[in-house]
Amino acid sequence: MITLDGSAGEGGGQILRTALALSAVTNTPVRVEQIRAGRARPGLMRQHLRAVESAAAVCGADVVGAELSSTTLEFRPGPVEHGDWKIDIGSAGSTTLVLQTLVPILLHAAAPSSLVLSGGTHNPAAPPVPFLDAVYAPLLGRMGATLDLELERPGFYPAGGGRLHARLTPGRLEPLELLSRGGDVTLSFEAIVSGISASIANRELFVLARELGTDRGAGRIMEVKDPRGPGNAVWARLDFPNGAEVVSAVGEKGVRAEVVARGVVNEVRALLAHDVPVGEHTADQLLLLCALAGGGRYRTVAPSLHTTTNADVIRRFLPVDIRFVDDGPTWVVEVGAQG
Ligand code: AMP
Repeated sequence: MITLDGSAGEGGGQILRTALALSAVTNTPVRVEQIRAGRARPGLMRQHLRAVESAAAVCGADVVGAELSSTTLEFRPGPVEHGDWKIDIGSAGSTTLVLQTLVPILLHAAAPSSLVLSGGTHNPAAPPVPFLDAVYAPLLGRMGATLDLELERPGFYPAGGGRLHARLTPGRLEPLELLSRGGDVTLSFEAIVSGISASIANRELFVLARELGTDRGAGRIMEVKDPRGPGNAVWARLDFPNGAEVVSAVGEKGVRAEVVARGVVNEVRALLAHDVPVGEHTADQLLLLCALAGGGRYRTVAPSLHTTTNADVIRRFLPVDIRFVDDGPTWVVEVGAQG
């Protein structure tokens, strides 16, 4: 059994999610201690608990410690099973993070799976659905598996109630090389408002267009009439010959629309300053896919604590070398077979 300290490095839910995925994929029992010990509300929150339960369901695992607030978990996996899975987070917890726990596991099933996830779809500190759709799923596609996503209904904190339908067709992942954008970037912007005035979205798109120098024609508003509660998110999509990136922010009560949009502006500017095809968040998520493929190389920004912590967890399960190479203003992540 592999024992992990859940408070090491970044110390968040990602340690748990990567551990669950790699435990199932390598058929190695894992014990995670001090889960999210450094977070304001330590231990398993509803979203993490659903990740544990659904990962256990798809690989018939025996689990000890699967309770809300639990800070220690033991997970003994069995064989991975494809199927039709319905997962209700039961709160506004992130559907996309639970999905990202299951994708690496179900990639190893014998046949396609369908997952219907209910909860939050545009959460702070999590990949929003447009990011998965435009960045994560296409990268997976290039590596050899197909992930189709359908946002049936958006869901925001605290009301939740969103629904995401994902269909995954497994395939043997091939190493990915992504070292440059390969040419010019086309920018487009989108803002979603649910149960609040479209003027919020308008103000966000105005800031993005003004600060990033494109005309307002590049912005699109998605307005959802939802009585359950207010919600807002805004994102910039960068399309370039070798792929795409999505930079997003989620609106919060008491935070002005202009401030929300400016966070996106700053992050887009940082990406555009150099020829990096892989942004900070993509970098930590792509690491696991490359490790499963047994190789990969991509140019990105300085590795985040999420990325280096994820590397530490991956190294415990898989015989891969992961190197972070400082290449001037950019970095190259290199994943290769050990030895
Ligand atoms: P944790 O904080 O450990 O639960 O992990 C959060 C995960 O969400 C990491 O993989 C982050 O890269 C990812 N993430 C957070 N914010 C974004 C965002 N705006 N776009 C894409 N991924 C994100």
